[in-house]
Amino acid sequence: MKQKIFNNTPKFFQELLISLYNYKAYKVRYGGEYNYFLKKFKQNRNLTREELVTINEKRYREFILKAIDNSAYYKELYKGIENPEDIKNISKLPIVSKEDLRSNIDKVVIKTNEKLGSSKTGGTTGKSLQVYTRRVNQQERFAMLDDFRGRFGYELGKKTAWFSGKTLLTNRDIKKNRFWKTDVFNKVRYYSTFHIKDEYLKYYVEDLIKFQPEYLSGFPSTMYDIAKYGLKHNYDFPSNSVKAIFPTAESVTPDMRKTIETFFKTKMYDQYASSEGAPFIFECKAGNLHLELQSGVFEVLDENDNPSISGRLVVTSFTTEATPLIRYDIGDSITLEDESKVCSCGNNNPMVKEILGRIDDYVYSPENGKINLGNVSNTLKDTKGILKFQAIQDSLNQIDLLVIVDKNIYSPDIERKFIKNWRERIGENMKLEVRYVDDIPNEASGKFRIVKNNVKHLVE
Ligand SMILES: [Zn+2]
Repeated sequence: MKQKIFNNTPKFFQELLISLYNYKAYKVRYGGEYNYFLKKFKQNRNLTREELVTINEKRYREFILKAIDNSAYYKELYKGIENPEDIKNISKLPIVSKEDLRSNIDKVVIKTNEKLGSSKTGGTTGKSLQVYTRRVNQQERFAMLDDFRGRFGYELGKKTAWFSGKTLLTNRDIKKNRFWKTDVFNKVRYYSTFHIKDEYLKYYVEDLIKFQPEYLSGFPSTMYDIAKYGLKHNYDFPSNSVKAIFPTAESVTPDMRKTIETFFKTKMYDQYASSEGAPFIFECKAGNLHLELQSGVFEVLDENDNPSISGRLVVTSFTTEATPLIRYDIGDSITLEDESKVCSCGNNNPMVKEILGRIDDYVYSPENGKINLGNVSNTLKDTKGILKFQAIQDSLNQIDLLVIVDKNIYSPDIERKFIKNWRERIGENMKLEVRYVDDIPNEASGKFRIVKNNVKHLVE
């Protein structure tokens, strides 16, 4: 859709355009093999562990053989390795980094006459990776995601509020305090994630109360801001309206989860995936995270690349046939749950205790080392009146904190507490500068980052 034309069309036509645009996108997503996959995953919800492992190994074998046949990069990479398609030999295959893929992308992508889709991965380091996808793989991924949401009653056509990185609004919309666009055919309302400020939040909250979606999906940082505003101003969200909330794309901190669930009076079910096409990790009704073995192979490795309970996540993703991800170091770390634990939800996929999040979502203290996202958000402990903050690190010896506060609550005592929390984590030597601001903009992608680390290249 051309942005300029879009800006000049009246509201009715814009909504029609959104519906038509979605119609085209939906035809790709929900066409072809989608229904076949959806049915299959629905049937497979309660497979035994043995059945899941059998599927996992068989798909791994087929996937590796296909990659060797069709990708010049992998053909070369696996030269001299005996039976690389046998999962028992997985540790013999080299681990591949984002940079490996990026610098060899022409050889990585398969040679095919098929029309491939493409998507760009987030460029937090300034360098983004463009991956290509087969339609049938996209359809399988959407089916898998929809089956996950389907466990909570969701299906396409149920009233849904979406908070995504799409730029949707015209100046006229903003003047009229209308921060959303509706796809009337599919009953989806897309809320902008670029206009999250105190003066606008009232309209978001009131519209959501009026719209009464059954499901919320998208960036949790936006839902969090809306929920915080709603709670603070005593809005009473109708109970039994929202059946489930599905966050995407960003890590959810415990505080975010609690606030969102409290305001919308429902449960949030998290998922893990990535724009490169990583295999899925889904949260179940019992609140546990399961590795989806039908979607790929998950390895958790320590610093010497040996299997470990807690460490960096290396993935092989079966739905990435056009840009194969095999033993791909995705840059996240996780901790596995005790193997002997069985979940009450009936899903026999292995469980994850914790997704520790982006390895690169950290600030670095020369004194204390890396301080991860969880510890950064814990600096709010025992404080009040801090509405939002962002930690920016442009040099090894300094962290700048942008902070938005509620002036009626925030006080010098709370500031001292906040700084003390920071000092406990980063030590006494770094420079820590607090700047009070009215607004902290989201990224170009619409996501909000609590941490902006620009010194990664200096930390090995
Ligand atoms: Zn479960």
